[in-house]
This record gives sequence, C-alpha cells and structure tokens, in this order.
Amino acid sequence: MRFIAVVALLSGIAAGQTPARNWKTIDWKAQEAEILRHYSALVQIDSSNPPGNETAVITYIKKVFDAEGIPSQIFALEPARANLVARIKGNGTKRPILIMAHTDVVGVQREKWPVDPFGAIRKDGYVWGRGSVDDKDKLAANLVLMLLLKRTNAELDRDVIFLAESGEEGTTKPGIEFMANQHFSQIEAEFCLTEGGGATLSGGRVTTVTVSTTEKLPRRIRLVVNGTSGHGSIPRTDNALTHLSAAVAKLGTWETPLRMNDTTRTYFERLAGISPPEAAARYNGITDTKRGAAIQKYLAENEPMHYSMLRTSVVPTILNAGFRMNVIPSEAEATIDVRMAPGEDDKAFFDQMQRLIGDPAVKIQRLTDGDRPPTPPSRLDTDMFRALETVSKRMYPGSVTLPTMLTGATDMAFLRAKGMQSYGIGPAASDTDRTNYGAHSDVERLLESSLYSFARFTWEAVMEVSATK
Ligand SMILES: [Zn+2]
Repeated sequence: MRFIAVVALLSGIAAGQTPARNWKTIDWKAQEAEILRHYSALVQIDSSNPPGNETAVITYIKKVFDAEGIPSQIFALEPARANLVARIKGNGTKRPILIMAHTDVVGVQREKWPVDPFGAIRKDGYVWGRGSVDDKDKLAANLVLMLLLKRTNAELDRDVIFLAESGEEGTTKPGIEFMANQHFSQIEAEFCLTEGGGATLSGGRVTTVTVSTTEKLPRRIRLVVNGTSGHGSIPRTDNALTHLSAAVAKLGTWETPLRMNDTTRTYFERLAGISPPEAAARYNGITDTKRGAAIQKYLAENEPMHYSMLRTSVVPTILNAGFRMNVIPSEAEATIDVRMAPGEDDKAFFDQMQRLIGDPAVKIQRLTDGDRPPTPPSRLDTDMFRALETVSKRMYPGSVTLPTMLTGATDMAFLRAKGMQSYGIGPAASDTDRTNYGAHSDVERLLESSLYSFARFTWEAVMEVSATK
C-alpha cells in the first residue's frame, strides 16, 4: 500500500499535478494551476461550429484520462464530431449522475476580437476566448472532477458519468441526439448537471445562484401570404405585403396568456424576497387580477426576459418579400420565433394565433427544424436540487438559490424527455460581465477566480449527492 501511495505521489508530481488523497480535504488553492492548464488547453482548441471538429477536443480529453488510468469510450456518428463518455463506478446504491458539457463553440469574427479568440489570454483577472464561458468552463470543471475522483479513490454511492458532447450550437444530431437515441444506456442517470445556470457577483460577493430547471420550447413558424402580382401603380386588395404586415404587427404586439410553473413561481417569489420594495411588489403581483396588466406592461418594457419567462413568446425575426419598387410581389413571408412555455398546448395555441390574425390569406407553416421534445420541468424537491441549494449556501454565505426557466433552448431538453432530472449551473459573473462579455460575444471572457470556484462548486454538488456518507 505504502509503495503504491509513494508511486502515485511521485507520478503525480512528475506530471505537474496536485496529488489529492482525501476527497474531503482537497486543497483547492493548490488545484488552481491544473484547472487553469486544462481550461486554457480546451479554449485553445478551435472547435468552431460549423464545422465543429469536436474530435480534436475529445482527443485531448482522452489523452488526459488515459494518462490518469480513467477508461473512456468514444462515440461518433461523424468521425470529426465525436463524443466521449467516461464513468467512475460507485457501489450502485443510487442511480448514476451525469456531468455533461459540450465541446463545440460558436464561430468568431476574428477582426472584432481585441485578443486572439483561441489564445486563452489572461488579462486583468480574466481569461479571454471563445468558449471561455460557453462551454469549456464546465468541460474543464467536469474533467478535473473526474481526475480528483480517480486520485482520491472516493467511495461513491452512484456512478459518475462524464459526457463531452458535440454539436450543441445548433447541430444536435451528431451530439446529444445521437447519444440520447443510440447510446442512452451509456449516459442514463438519475440526475444531470450541465450548462444553463450561473451566479451573480455584486460587490465582490455572490448574491444569487441560478439553477435552470426548465426551458421554453422552440416552435418556429413561417407566415406565408400569396396574392396577385402586378404593376406598382395599381393597388390591389390582395397585396401579399399588406396582408402579411398586418399579421406580423398583430403577432409582434400580442400579449399571450400567462403561463407559470413551479420553477417560475418559486423564482419570482424568491426574487421578490431579495428585491427592493417597488420591484418586490411587482414580482409578487404578477398574478394579481387588478394590478396584473400594469405589471405585464412594465415587464415588457423594462424586463423583457422576465416577461418572456411568464408566457409563450412570439417574436418576428425575418421578413421576405418583393424585388422591385414597381412590382407587387405574388408572395410574402415572415419568420416568427415562437418559444412555448412548458405545458402550452401546441395545437390550441396556433389555432388561437390563426383567430387573432383573422385573415384567411395568411397561412401558418410550422418549421420543425430545431424543435425540441416537450418535457416537464425538472423538480425542485429532488436530492440534486437540494444539494445545489446546500452547496450554494455553504460556498456563498447569504446567497439565494433561484430556480430558473431559460428562455433559450439547451441539450437538457433531450435528457428531460427521457425522465432525467436535469439542472443547469454555471460560474459567477457580475451583471455587467454577463451583459457585455458573455457567451457568443466577441469579448467572451471569464473571471479567473470564478473558474476555480465553479470547479469547486461542481465537485461539491456532485459529492453531496454521490459520496458514501
Ligand atoms: Zn453552451
């Protein structure tokens, strides 16, 4: 035993790692260099999607796992877009937990970047680069978690499954769809932790921790109007543009019905609890029949994300018609980004929309590309959600945990559809950083200290539900 321990210690030092032998006493300060090393290496791999080339990321991770003696398996629908699964076994008392992160990033306009987007440049306390907050921070945290599990030989009640998946940024077929539909037994788990949440830093302190438990469903449509083409000097009552614009104007200003769920109710209730009196009164009055209308108007104008969290949203995004100033076009089209609140009935909703438009010339076409399966929200009464609350309180004293509904879509939809209780988490950022230096921006960056605290947060949350007590 002693010989093995000494060898492990020596080999750990040789590879520049921090040997950790007890999962309860991890020296997180000493761990920082290794976290940063893997995180930087991951950001430095250009996995812009398209085309993705996620296999380059997978190759890196595989090498790290191999060196550490962690078995892993590669699953690829397309050779350049592989996924990787690794599993550290528990005693099987509880069902597994899946820690998932995507390996692709959105593309860059290099000339717009103040630094090399794939340089992982450290500057002013931040690490800059494409993927620095979406999603290579979670990928690095999960990678380090696996290394620590292996090194500490922690006793677990459940398997911990690591999934690095390709194609999250708009091409889910080789990634989550392939894994969920063709290899589900490899990733099947009771809980999943992945991107989709965060924490708010204000005055150097974390005040709120957001955990996403549900998301809206993309249900895009196209409005199509056909009319008679003709000369621009002769007005026609069936002008496609006129009919289309009237319909677009109605949809763009439509206040769809209020749709709340467990997550959003808890979110606004808890948000009210930490907001100044005026804002608190608004959040508490959302369902108030008397003040409701004024509150909705306020939110629509001042807090559009909150407005969207309360309903199915209908947002015109593309108009297409006409080619010459003196020709009446025979066809006009508009694309509408519809995001359904969980539980909204598709058919009833589009029937209602058709009645609102009130014009038989306007046809609604469904664009099913990009649809996600309908899913119930992940529950707030699970061990996992409670663990996230416990760890938040422990790591960030005085903070409040807010369950959130994302207005956008994530790969969790495919896992929730299979009954997996899935929670979105993320590193801490100030409101300013999130608004100005966030995901997909050409100044994407992460506060270096947040990277380390997030790695620890992930570890503690996983251990809270997995470690044998
Ligand atoms: Zn992402």
